[in-house]
Amino acid sequence: MVLKKGFESIKYFVMKDTENELDAWKTVVQMRTFAILLAAYSCLLMGYCVLFIHPVSFLVCSLALIAALIGLGLTYGENRSVAGEYMFFTSIGIVAFGVFIYGWNSGVQHFLFVFLIYYFMLDYASILRKIIYGIILLVVRLGLYLYTMKYDAYFYVMSKDVVAIQIINTITIFALCIFLVSLGTIKSQQLQEYCDAERRAAVHDPLTGLCNRRALFERVHQVTAVAMADIDFFKKINDTYGHAAGDKILQQLGSLMQEYVGPFAKIVRWGGEEFVFFFHDSDIEEVQNRMQELKKLLEHECFRYQEHEIPVTLTIGVAQKYEHESIYDTINRADQKLYKGKENGRNVIVA
Ligand code: GH3
Ligand code: MG
Ligand code: MG
Repeated sequence: MVLKKGFESIKYFVMKDTENELDAWKTVVQMRTFAILLAAYSCLLMGYCVLFIHPVSFLVCSLALIAALIGLGLTYGENRSVAGEYMFFTSIGIVAFGVFIYGWNSGVQHFLFVFLIYYFMLDYASILRKIIYGIILLVVRLGLYLYTMKYDAYFYVMSKDVVAIQIINTITIFALCIFLVSLGTIKSQQLQEYCDAERRAAVHDPLTGLCNRRALFERVHQVTAVAMADIDFFKKINDTYGHAAGDKILQQLGSLMQEYVGPFAKIVRWGGEEFVFFFHDSDIEEVQNRMQELKKLLEHECFRYQEHEIPVTLTIGVAQKYEHESIYDTINRADQKLYKGKENGRNVIVA
């Protein structure tokens, strides 16, 4: 949570236009923070070099700083892949140069692992390209190792300096890894939340909040009886008071029915103004009684839209589910009974 908030503030700090680049912002933040951390690392090393090592080392670190700042600048450009690729290859170049100058003991080559994570997290690159770049990193690391086995470092770095450089490198590498992995975790959590919300939305009707047909098969084997209810003369309500009035009635009726049947049945908005109740423990008499009570409840319920009071009635068909019958057949029988109820004048329950 804290991480998330921190990340949000980074987003506003580094982003230029969050609205248009909503999908890409995480990648851009990743690249920018990466460039900033590399720049900070170069500054740290520069400071150390200027104090303790050699002025030429200072120059090498300045080059790294300039490269990181150019990378940062490129993230503000139109094409984020340019910044991503630049940062990847420039970073490899700097590491190779660092190992060439300071030797294997400096530990600069460990940055290659960070670049591996960095590149695998860029969203624009294909998995094939990521694997190829991973192999490039492997080859570079092996090449550097073999090179340093054969040749000495350009500068002789004293052992106390090696300790300092190793400490700076270790801290920077861990900081980068922690940052990248946290970013990856946030990304996958957000993706999970998005998937959960989509899954919920897929099985729910947005108007009434009731389940839709997709949710039907969750507990279908436990269904003992089905009731199909259809609002009487709903078209007339729409025509008289407007579609918004119809919508409001559907919402109010949906919550009322849900509240009423609560634990006994699952209600599915089957179509426009049709609802199917799936009872899982009740027999047909019990369902009939419940539907009778619901009918009574509706007679006393006040459906209001603006200054209008709109009476709402239901015609309901009830069918018991036979053991070897498919749920569709039970629903069909309930539907036929509903149809009969409509023929017999509506506002009735047919079992
Ligand atoms: P009956 O008593 O025979 O069922 O008549 P009815 O008017 O209720 O049935 P009909 O099938 O003729 O009309 C159903 C109407 O329901 C037509 C359609 O515009 C309306 N409807 C369907 N979905 C919605 C919705 O989400 N909102 C609103 N406001 N109306 C809807
Ligand atoms: Mg109707
Ligand atoms: Mg209908």
